[in-house]
Amino acid sequence: MRDQLERLRREGLAALAGAEDEAALRREEVRLLGRQGELTALLKQVGALPAAERPEAGRLANAVKAELAAALDERRRALAAARLERDLSGAGFDPTLPGPPPPAGTLHPITRVQRRLEDLFTAMGFVVADGPEVELEENNFDALNIPADHPAREAQDTIWVRSERGVCMRTHTSPVQVRALRRFGVPLRVVAPGRVFRQETQDASHDHTFHQMEGLVVDRGVGVGHMLHAMNTLLAGVFGRDLETRLRPGFFPFVEPGFELDARCPFCSDGCRVCKGSTWVELMPGGLVHPNVLRACGVDPEEYSGYAFGLGLSRLAMLCYGIDDIRWLLGGDLRFLEQFPA
Ligand SMILES: [Zn+2]
Repeated sequence: MRDQLERLRREGLAALAGAEDEAALRREEVRLLGRQGELTALLKQVGALPAAERPEAGRLANAVKAELAAALDERRRALAAARLERDLSGAGFDPTLPGPPPPAGTLHPITRVQRRLEDLFTAMGFVVADGPEVELEENNFDALNIPADHPAREAQDTIWVRSERGVCMRTHTSPVQVRALRRFGVPLRVVAPGRVFRQETQDASHDHTFHQMEGLVVDRGVGVGHMLHAMNTLLAGVFGRDLETRLRPGFFPFVEPGFELDARCPFCSDGCRVCKGSTWVELMPGGLVHPNVLRACGVDPEEYSGYAFGLGLSRLAMLCYGIDDIRWLLGGDLRFLEQFPA
């Protein structure tokens, strides 16, 4: 028994040291130490020895096993190091090759819709204007003919920054119209995309922060027909085909007359979840600019007229991409955002 173990130790160490590669080493490991291996076979015989010889034989067998296992580990490490050395120095390894590209971000669905709209509007001669998100009450409400007692000004709707000094988070992008008219004068064609803020309880269709795009045209002889044409062109550009539209009367303090523009649901012909079965989706409020607004911006309403419309960018992005909950848009969840590859 002792001799057999000694021979296995010698032979085994030599075989492991001589293994040329990792596959050969694995074969030796199975042959020597595997469940059907030579050492296991010897260990089984220990039980058949006379009782006096068993302890020593057992100790020796375990010592041989430990020695072989250590030699196996050492050889494995040596082979791995040699392979790495070969890979790094051999032909085919070029340290000047660029590494894998870092993961690139993608455009947010709102940014995509906004850019598409900006392209459409600039092609129609509009300028894209920007304005502050923290706004004066005067620009956000007064100049837009929204009276002091209008419910929209109340705390449950407007987020006030310094209410005693008339500073609020803008509740719509319309104050940019006011700023643009005062700055550029008439004639003017302008769109103003941006974030707006309301004190809203969040749910699937309401968020405290969302995106709008406001449009304004002021010139001599501007009428409802011009407005309809611009709106229809816009919708065709966004959805890639002409959509049937209709105007309903709507009331907004800054327009007179005011309208709600509905479009045929782009997703169905006989009612679906998006249009709530009606086949119409409410898309844009708009109308002819109220003379008081023109006056507040230093434009003579006897000489000039204009139209204005508001577009819910968040809502349009949801329609375009089939997003069913507005909270996804600004939730910052990468699993959502990664669904819109570049
Ligand atoms: Zn529908």
